[in-house]
Amino acid sequence: MGRKIQIVEVGPRDGLQNEKTLLDVDQKLEMIARLEAAGARRMEVVSFVNPKRVPQMAGAEEIMAALPHAEGRSRIGLVLNARGWDRCVEARCDEANVVVCASDGFGIRNQGASTAEQVEALASIVAARKPTDPPISMTVSVAFGCPFEGEVPEARVLEIVKAAAELKVAEIALADTIGVADPWLVRRRVEATRKLIGDIPLRLHFHDTRNTGLANAFAGVEAGVDILDASVGGLGGCPFAPNATGNIGTEDLVYMLERAGFETTYDLGALIEIGNWASGLVGKAPAASVSRAGGFPLQA
Ligand code: ZN
Repeated sequence: MGRKIQIVEVGPRDGLQNEKTLLDVDQKLEMIARLEAAGARRMEVVSFVNPKRVPQMAGAEEIMAALPHAEGRSRIGLVLNARGWDRCVEARCDEANVVVCASDGFGIRNQGASTAEQVEALASIVAARKPTDPPISMTVSVAFGCPFEGEVPEARVLEIVKAAAELKVAEIALADTIGVADPWLVRRRVEATRKLIGDIPLRLHFHDTRNTGLANAFAGVEAGVDILDASVGGLGGCPFAPNATGNIGTEDLVYMLERAGFETTYDLGALIEIGNWASGLVGKAPAASVSRAGGFPLQA
């Protein structure tokens, strides 16, 4: 039995968020259903941002209403503020992923709030949470670098991590939102984070903007992290890096891990089909290499 690595599929949210081609609710539901059939157990399916600001994320309530609770499936909603939390609870998401930006520059542009204000918002959300409400993950975005402020000091990331750990969130994640991390930096940040969070699970979120995404994932796994985000087809982009590729591709990550003997819950062949199909929906060739090249050994 290989070590199990949990991959959280973020294609329907992060993957589509920056695509110019808008998918309708039915197309998104088909994508979610196909990904669950291919083995996705946890999936970020919606974002409770203002659809006027991010039109690609419109229809969050409709999507959740069409996804009845299913044992062994977790549908995650992205939450940027108290209003988003209320919508996430109302829509009966299985989990909430609350984002705190590690830099004020990114926080103010992305969420209209400084880091300190976002930590305060997280504390209010945790305080308001009833036992029947979704468990809360906290993701530190731009945890490895900011497009406006440049380097993000480790101490700044750890301050947020410490606050979230004290609030006893269910999971903590570090996100390389703009794809600037290197594998050695990942190792150092993972080690420093783990010292502060005790038993709280740690998740990592990488973008392949500068071709270091899989190397960063490798570094995270080597440093003991068992939970990684990925997006089918490598879908996604970054509004602050034109022509950038998206998240690390789920099929690339599954291929790398399973080739090395790790266990994931995914069917690689099905992922490759979805990677090609979903990329086609947004008018692109898949960014994920394995959706172009196929797996190995080749299936007869
Ligand atoms: Zn992202």
